[in-house]
Amino acid sequence: MRLLVVEDDPDLNRQLVSALSDAGYAVDTAFDGEEGHFLGDTEPYDAVILDIGLPQRDGISVLEQWRRDDRKMPVLILTARDRWSDKVAGIDAGADDYVAKPFHMEEILARIRALLRRSTGHAKNEIEVGPLRLDTRSSRVTVDGAPVKLTSHEYRLLAYLMHHRGRVVSRSELIEHLYDQDFDRDSNTIEVFVGRLRKKIPSGLIETVRGLGYCLGSIADEA
Ligand code: CA
Repeated sequence: MRLLVVEDDPDLNRQLVSALSDAGYAVDTAFDGEEGHFLGDTEPYDAVILDIGLPQRDGISVLEQWRRDDRKMPVLILTARDRWSDKVAGIDAGADDYVAKPFHMEEILARIRALLRRSTGHAKNEIEVGPLRLDTRSSRVTVDGAPVKLTSHEYRLLAYLMHHRGRVVSRSELIEHLYDQDFDRDSNTIEVFVGRLRKKIPSGLIETVRGLGYCLGSIADEA
């Protein structure tokens, strides 16, 4: 899952990027409204954290423009504590959720998890495909209850496929959603990671759909 953080306070921006990266997300970052708008307009983010008070262009205007242009990614806005009117304006502009500053990072992480699972059609924190289970809170993966040890890249790939279970996901979509914009993107790496994953989970679970990409769990879902 790939996120965008638009926050002009350098310390807060760094804290957000660090906590989100530690939680297994690919994170791009912007420090003003113009740059933030451009990235959200041109890159396919799974969710965005958008500060309302931004230099060059305020968060409400950025969000309104995205929604006018039919950008549908979930957006969590950051508002000042006592500005209830910002929350109303932000939600009316198309925000999906808000957090007031100052906040606990755990709250941001929980709300992002909720936005990501809702936007992919999941109500529960745990996603299951056959014997495979992903706990999005703890980032733990088990097969028949036994823990599976994954590297962070393997985890990102599996978590994306599990959120989108039963759907064919192309290699280019995976590259766009698993890596931040500075990452050296090479579609062969996806094949390598899929190969490694297949050795760690029941190998039939990830199906290769020739010419289209990969599908997790179509067989299990039919059962
Ligand atoms: Ca600000």
